[in-house]
Amino acid sequence: MPRTRKKRREVARVPRGETALPEFDRGAVPEGLVTRRALREMGLSPGDNEGPVAILRCRLCATRPTWSCRHPTRGFLLRVDLARPKRTPTLAQELALDRAMAARSTCSRCSRRYYYCLPLRTVGCCDPCARGYEPTPGTYVLTTATPVTHRLAA
Ligand SMILES: [Zn+2]
Ligand SMILES: [Zn+2]
Repeated sequence: MPRTRKKRREVARVPRGETALPEFDRGAVPEGLVTRRALREMGLSPGDNEGPVAILRCRLCATRPTWSCRHPTRGFLLRVDLARPKRTPTLAQELALDRAMAARSTCSRCSRRYYYCLPLRTVGCCDPCARGYEPTPGTYVLTTATPVTHRLAA
């Protein structure tokens, strides 16, 4: 039935201006508004942005300025002035994270530290200990001392 199909399509259309967020076409976005992706590429986190403030209309909708863009390709615009630089982990945070990781990847029987997490809660030790074979070189850290190297330069 072509009639019902046409009807459904009309329902999906929402006139521009009746939506909660203002819409802007590509190239006509006011200064200070960027998409989430652009924000991320600038090395910023949304910060104090509480959700998008506007919508970046998709390319297709440039030919339909009177209708609201409801396509999944539309973008959500955030305010740059509310964005914050992404927090880089401090040395103390990295150390704490490393310790937590060490606890989860170190075998209590052979004290080897593996590059993956061990089934400590269920098995209690590494697989080579549990089944009695030599672990494959490269699956565990060779030095007994846990090296804590700061990944950031300077
Ligand atoms: Zn659209
Ligand atoms: Zn072990």
